[in-house]
Amino acid sequence: MQENLASSNSSNRHSKFTLAFDVIIVGAGIAGSALACALGDSSLKVAIVESQQPSLDWPEQSDNVTGFDPRVSALTAASENFLTELNVWQAIAERRISPYQFMHVWDADGTASIDFSAREVNEPRLGHIVENRIIVTALMQRINSLSNVQIIAPSSLDKIIDDGDKKNVLLEDGRCLSAPLIVAADGARSIIREQAGFKTREWDYDHHAIVATVETEVSHQQTAWQRFLPAGPLAFLPLRTSGDSENLCSIVWSTLPEEAKELMAQDDDVFAASLARAFESRLGEIKSVSRRFSFPLRQRHAVDYIKPGIALVGDAAHTIHPLAGQGINIGLQDVQVLAEELLRAEQRQLSVGHSSVLSRYQRRRKGDNLMMMVTMEGFKRLFAEPLLPVRWLRNSGMRWVNKTKPLKNKIIRQAMGF
Ligand SMILES: Cc1cc2nc3c(=O)[nH]c(=O)nc-3n(C[C@H](O)[C@H](O)[C@H](O)COP(=O)(O)OP(=O)(O)OC[C@H]3O[C@@H](n4cnc5c(N)ncnc54)[C@H](O)[C@@H]3O)c2cc1C
Repeated sequence: MQENLASSNSSNRHSKFTLAFDVIIVGAGIAGSALACALGDSSLKVAIVESQQPSLDWPEQSDNVTGFDPRVSALTAASENFLTELNVWQAIAERRISPYQFMHVWDADGTASIDFSAREVNEPRLGHIVENRIIVTALMQRINSLSNVQIIAPSSLDKIIDDGDKKNVLLEDGRCLSAPLIVAADGARSIIREQAGFKTREWDYDHHAIVATVETEVSHQQTAWQRFLPAGPLAFLPLRTSGDSENLCSIVWSTLPEEAKELMAQDDDVFAASLARAFESRLGEIKSVSRRFSFPLRQRHAVDYIKPGIALVGDAAHTIHPLAGQGINIGLQDVQVLAEELLRAEQRQLSVGHSSVLSRYQRRRKGDNLMMMVTMEGFKRLFAEPLLPVRWLRNSGMRWVNKTKPLKNKIIRQAMGF
């Protein structure tokens, strides 16, 4: 029993209203919704609790800077394959996806650059940029068609209470749910992680990310662009419109908190000029900019992903710098592995909350995620280093990688999630 969970006496007060499930997923972002889909059509009785009103209708979309969700994800081929298995990729693709064939990365403090191309690894594309709201809507529509999954929303988790082999989930509206397994998919500031006393290793990146959709003078050429500035990376991610115009990009500009504050305060014209300057006008002038949003970036990794009857997935388990666009890609890998383990337990008639089931999930995911986080941290520090020898080394390194084909192909395939 977790010492900082409430005592079971409190659960008895709610027991007559208790709804029983096999798995309760808290959070219907991309990770939680994907897990509900992956457990669909099994004999497991699943509840998914979400504090926001989930949308089952496709969002309005138009071909200008205001018609895109400013929150997009660069999905790898591995994520595409998983979403295909979940029967949602087709719906996403029919709505709006932006494939990219190339990636161009360069250092503001030097002359080196590195180019990746899908052709080099005989793939049709490196990945897709997809709006988060489209991914979530497609997943929610699929969940809505599953007879073994119940959506409980809008409703927030209040607390979790130990009750022998089960956990009771008390919702803020007074309802009580119970299951042998609670999956925390409640995001970076997970209440479950906090209440259940999961330890984390975390620190501020000392970066805020500004996201927006922008229109550029020059075509993005189906290329994901990233310039490493001394204060942090600036990415332009290509968006495809229904008319196949190639002049809209989603930007992620990670920079020092004070600079982010100044950039957020600028009016659109001044911001457009600052952005073009920071990007060396590689895509010409910035002709228009959507509303901007700013997020503080924090590295966070749970020391353990599991405790008796509880598993963490997605951002509840780890948040990493968006510089390589891997956050939800590794979150979807957590979901895929956890679903495999839960379905295997179901086949073997083992409780889904059994420690051996959860331990296998943790063993299969933690090392890979840790490796990804260490790599991202290394990149961030390497490119933030102003010392001349380090700048020389990283520029030489980039040039060397760019012309060493086998190594470059290996990096591309890893970035694609293979
Ligand atoms: C600027 C930026 C750019 C990024 N770009 C990329 C990218 O290109 N590629 C990529 O792979 N990743 C990217 N990421 C990371 C990615 O966005 C996250 O990893 C992903 O959205 C996390 O999904 P999630 O489902 O784990 O959590 P969330 O999306 O945070 O979902 C959590 C859900 O839980 C719900 N919830 C919270 N508390 C409760 C409660 N008490 N009760 C009920 N419900 C609750 C919330 O309402 C929410 O719907 C980026 C992140 C940032 C900040």
